[in-house]
Amino acid sequence: MLSLFTIIRRKPSLTGLQPGQVALTFDDGPNLEGNVTPDLLDVLHEYSVKAGFCIVGQQIVQHPDVVRRMYHSGHLLINHTQGHHHPIRQNAATLVEEIDACDREIGAALGIRGYRSDYFRAPFGIVTMAVRRVVRQLEMKQVLLSHYGWDTRVGPHNCESVVDLLIANAKKNDGGLFVLHDGSLCPPKIQDEDWDRSTENRSWVPTAIRRVISELQQHGLQFVLPGTTGKVCDNRLRAAA
Ligand SMILES: [Zn+2]
Repeated sequence: MLSLFTIIRRKPSLTGLQPGQVALTFDDGPNLEGNVTPDLLDVLHEYSVKAGFCIVGQQIVQHPDVVRRMYHSGHLLINHTQGHHHPIRQNAATLVEEIDACDREIGAALGIRGYRSDYFRAPFGIVTMAVRRVVRQLEMKQVLLSHYGWDTRVGPHNCESVVDLLIANAKKNDGGLFVLHDGSLCPPKIQDEDWDRSTENRSWVPTAIRRVISELQQHGLQFVLPGTTGKVCDNRLRAAA
């Protein structure tokens, strides 16, 4: 079925996690509106948590310094295409172009010629036949989810329900691989004159993640890098932000 749920695996173990492990991913950035992504990186650094960032080429070109910071802080960079177009309108050839263009932006930001991403997440999480074929052809790995919380449908005034759900799911399932959006490229958007009610306002995400990490660590769960089975985040092994 072609739906967002094609990337969702309810059992955390099917996303490569061990029981008791939580992995966080952030899609559609980097985003500096409201300083969202840098603030998020500050919170992750404070708690020594590494995460996956599904970054979009058109955003990278605006904020290459933020991508450099992600990389040198030990976070996982995940190719999320150049233009974040709906996969249903992409064939294998255009998807390869989109992935290549995004890799060129990552490479330019990092100063690494010929940079190739190992990890991919399709825009909107929609895994078409073309997506499957291209991922196989390019020998990439998809970063799957155990839960999707519809966080793009909330703004600062009503984000608590999404955060509550994420925390409850992680506790109930003894971990999981989750996504929140630090960028705003997903419709439906609610554009409200009151910025606090706009779904494009992602400024609540860093605060939400502080609560998520704090509550789940207190619950005894361990934060790990997504996509790397059983690899535990260990700040001692990586350069500090
Ligand atoms: Zn996306």
